[in-house]
Amino acid sequence: MNILDGKEVSTKIKEDIKVETAAFTAASGRKPHLVAILVGNDGGSETYVASKMRNCELVGFESTNIRYDVEVSEAELIAKIQEINKDPNIDGLIVQLPLPAHIDPDKVTEAIDHRKDVDGFHPINLGRMQRNLPCFIPATPYGIMLMLAHYGIDTAGKHAVVVGRSNIVGSPMSILLARNSNPGNCTVTLTHSKTKDLKTEVLRGDIIVAAIGKKNFVTADMVKDGAIVIDVGINRENSTETKSGFKLYGDVDFDNVAPKASWITPVPGGVGLMTIVGLLKNTLEAAKGTIYAKG
Ligand code: NDP
Repeated sequence: MNILDGKEVSTKIKEDIKVETAAFTAASGRKPHLVAILVGNDGGSETYVASKMRNCELVGFESTNIRYDVEVSEAELIAKIQEINKDPNIDGLIVQLPLPAHIDPDKVTEAIDHRKDVDGFHPINLGRMQRNLPCFIPATPYGIMLMLAHYGIDTAGKHAVVVGRSNIVGSPMSILLARNSNPGNCTVTLTHSKTKDLKTEVLRGDIIVAAIGKKNFVTADMVKDGAIVIDVGINRENSTETKSGFKLYGDVDFDNVAPKASWITPVPGGVGLMTIVGLLKNTLEAAKGTIYAKG
């Protein structure tokens, strides 16, 4: 069993981003600038946004966190997004999900100028991704593809089973793995809560991507020998054992699945770190105007 080490890969790619950013800043006289909007004070979201901001600083970006009270109206939020869309000093904009129930996440996502949509959630970016055209790829699937590429894992012709079909992870992951690209060229099965006999489906996977949101959901009896196992899940549980007061668990029963896997991502230390890398790469591309011309 080999570990797909998110710490090692993300550190290496962030070093590259840092060098590219320094060159961009020297040539343009400005830093790439990411704005993150955070609504309310959900503990998980706070941690994710803080980590994104910290990593921006680390690679030499400017970052701004705009915070709203949980009661902010949809109209006020969208007005702010429209203001940012027009601001030439801001390259990338993300709105941390989930949003409170009174705000429609689809309306918010579509309000973001697709040229600043560094989360890659806008329908224009998703459509362009499906067509294999230049676009911002959602950060988590992007990070997973970068990780597979880093380890030189040959995915062509393999059967990939993705568990979970969310717009931000499972669905785009299935598209990327099926695309005619490297990594890619998989035969993909996309499964979800209505899938019949999930265990049989997952057992067919040479590659398994677990993005469900349930601790230890994928167990050893669902995994064939030699499978490549990518665990996207981040499940927080209160704990007295850690300084932070919580512990993270993946969607895969790591201890029992790892001995059967050829490659596996740990949680923490796997996909989560790569998601940040995906976001940083998208933001740098947005600043450079290489995917969509500036203006
Ligand atoms: P969602 O809740 O949006 O989607 C979960 C998916 O899992 C749905 O498609 C759902 O099916 C499916 N599902 C739920 N229960 C079952 C079941 N019993 N059998 C089969 N499928 C099931 O979650 P996300 O995609 O946003 O996130 C998934 C996990 O990944 C979470 O733990 C989240 O915290 C984590 N995450 C981690 C990131 C990282 O950087 N590492 C980034 C983003 C998320 P249906 O559609 O039918 O309801």
